[in-house]
Amino acid sequence: MDYQDLLDVVHQEVRPHIGKGRVADYIPALARVPAERFGLCLHLLDGREYGVGDVDEAFSIQSVSKVFALVLALGALGEQIWQRVGREPSGNPFNSLVQLEYEHGIPRNPFINAGALVITDWLLGLHADPSAELVAWLRRESASARVAIDAEVAASERAHGDRNAALAHFMKSCGNLQAPVERVLQTYFDHCAIRMSCRELARAGALLANHGRSPITGESWLTRSQAKQIAALMLTCGTYDAAGDFAFRVGLPGKSGVGGGILAVIPQRMSLCVWSPGLDPRGNSLAGVEALERFTTLSGISIF
Ligand code: GLU
Repeated sequence: MDYQDLLDVVHQEVRPHIGKGRVADYIPALARVPAERFGLCLHLLDGREYGVGDVDEAFSIQSVSKVFALVLALGALGEQIWQRVGREPSGNPFNSLVQLEYEHGIPRNPFINAGALVITDWLLGLHADPSAELVAWLRRESASARVAIDAEVAASERAHGDRNAALAHFMKSCGNLQAPVERVLQTYFDHCAIRMSCRELARAGALLANHGRSPITGESWLTRSQAKQIAALMLTCGTYDAAGDFAFRVGLPGKSGVGGGILAVIPQRMSLCVWSPGLDPRGNSLAGVEALERFTTLSGISIF
C-alpha cells in the first residue's frame, strides 16, 4: 500500500470539512488559532513517516497529554494507580462533576479531567517537577527539542480553571488527592499547555502501537499488558462522550484534545496524529475524525 497516495486522497476528501466546526474559545490563546489548519501524520514502527498538510506546525495538545501522563504513571507505579481512578467510560462531559459525588471522589477514568488530576497527583509523588519530566520525556520520544509548555496557554488555563479547581477540591475532600490542590492544578494546566506537532505526537505515541517499547528510543516504558490497557482506555474513553461514535466510525484507539489534535494507534503497525482546530459539538476535531474515518475505511486497516 502506498501510504502517501492514501493520505493525499484522504486530504482531498476531507477538504470540505476543514475549517468547519468551532475552534475552542474558552481561553483567548486557543480562540486565535486559524480554523483552516489540517495535518495528518503516520509513524510506522519501522521508522517510515508519511504526512499531508500542516504536519510540522505545533499546536496545543491539551487532553492528548492525558495519555502521556498515564504512560508515565502506569509505567512507574503499576496496578496501584487503579485504586484511585476507574476504567469505565463516563458518558458525561470531560469536566463533569456529577459522577464524582456518587463515586466518592474516584473518577471514572484517567481521560476525563478528574481522572487526569488524580494521575497528575500520582506523578507529583514521583517527581519534584512532573511537568519538566514530561516535557523532557516527550522531547526524547518525539526526537524533537522544541517540545515545550506554552506559558500563555498555561496561565490562561489557570485563570479560567474554576471547574478543574472544583473537581480537585472535591476529590481532595474525599481523600483522593495527596499533593496540595494548587500544585496538582498547576501541573495539570502545564500538561494541557504543551505544544507539539502531528509528527512529534505520532512519534511519541508509537510505543503504544509497539507493546510499550518506543521504536524511537528503544526504551520500554510499559509492559505489553499495560500498553494494551492504555489502548483499550483510548478506545472506550479517549474521545469525550463520543467514544462510542468514534469507535464505530474510526475503529481505532484514539485520544483527542480541544486543541484539535487526535492521537490514534494501530497496534503493531503505526501511530497516527491528525490535527484540525474546528471541533464538533462533543469537542473532537471535526475534520480530524472525518480524516481518520476515511483513512481506516480506504485502507481497510482498523483494530476490528
Ligand atoms: N485544558 C482543558 C481543561 O482542563 C482540557 C481540554 C481538553 O479536554 O482537551 O479544561
